Amino acid sequence: MSHTRTSSTVPMNDLSRGISRDRALLDAAVGSVLDSGYVIMGPHHNAFESALAEYLGVTHLLGVASGTDALEIAIKAVMPAGKCAVMTAGNAGGYTSTAARRGGFQVRYADIDPNSLCLSEQTVSDALTDDVGVVVITHLYGNLTDISTLVALCHDRGIRVVEDCAQAIGARRADGAAGTFGDIAATSFYPTKNLGAIGDGGAVITNNAKFAQTVSQLRQYGWGSKYRVAIGGGTNSRLDELQAAFLLVRLPLLDGFNERRRKIVQRYFAAAADGPLQVLPADGPHHAAHLAVALSRRRTDIREQLLLKGVATDVHFPVPDHQQIGFAAVPQSLPYTENVSLEILSLPCFPELTDDEVDLVCNAIRTLE
Ligand SMILES: *Cc1c(COP(=O)(O)O)cnc(C)c1O
Repeated sequence: MSHTRTSSTVPMNDLSRGISRDRALLDAAVGSVLDSGYVIMGPHHNAFESALAEYLGVTHLLGVASGTDALEIAIKAVMPAGKCAVMTAGNAGGYTSTAARRGGFQVRYADIDPNSLCLSEQTVSDALTDDVGVVVITHLYGNLTDISTLVALCHDRGIRVVEDCAQAIGARRADGAAGTFGDIAATSFYPTKNLGAIGDGGAVITNNAKFAQTVSQLRQYGWGSKYRVAIGGGTNSRLDELQAAFLLVRLPLLDGFNERRRKIVQRYFAAAADGPLQVLPADGPHHAAHLAVALSRRRTDIREQLLLKGVATDVHFPVPDHQQIGFAAVPQSLPYTENVSLEILSLPCFPELTDDEVDLVCNAIRTLE
């Protein structure tokens, strides 16, 4: 056996499967856009904004060009006057750091809770500094944890909360969907996300009319009306009409996709019982199961064993933000964040995996040494 992937390896993702499943719908969407004659912010764009807003139960949803743009614009829209820093977790892939830095803000990190792997009220209150005006909470791996006490802590101190729903779109609790708990939220339609486009896309979500108005200006040069720049910090970040048309036909499939993802994680979770791999559960509608993640102190060895059994794996994410060379962050110790970056690994988890492939992964997990 060789250590290189063979064609029979269960992949981490395969976009061609979803494209061929949806091919007729996607072809029709292209035709519909071409027939309309609108290519930017036309009827498909507006229809998708309304449809996703209704699905989430929010009053305002604004399409932008990517999830990273959505974060940057959301942070800019809610940053209180006189504040200049964003606090977030260091284990969430660096997207918030990229967005906040590009927006001209300082980035501060709080450690994660060892159980949820997300920020908690405790870790944030331990790390808060006076300059923090925005806390970004990432619903990492799709897990919409109960963030009500964390939101209350922030609001008590005049700090605004941005939810990063890029991995958790469609996750919901009894009291609302991911993206409706903070002041504003950002999401991504990157092709591998739970609701994926055929290219880049993103959205900003809010129930606050004033923030929505600011976002609608920021995404289009800061214009108040055509050619009249009303506010600073504007950019060009629009959701393409074609992507909106593709997303419109895939939105009705989202709940089914999320259910399939949860089933896959539940199978891996059961297969891992009593073995060396600790698969994290995704056991209800609050979890969109974006990734099937597991922890192991013997990560390199486990990944090698899985690959030999025909299972691809990846690491989300190997380098915490506060240790990224390019972010040139102030040296800081975040013990749980650092520990998780050494132990976390991801197993194949996307709706188009076949039952045979899921069986193969389960057998591989069961026979780990
Ligand atoms: C993918 C992702 C983003 C960024 O989205 P893009 O559309 O790729 O810019 C932001 N946050 C999280 C948690 C993500 O997974």
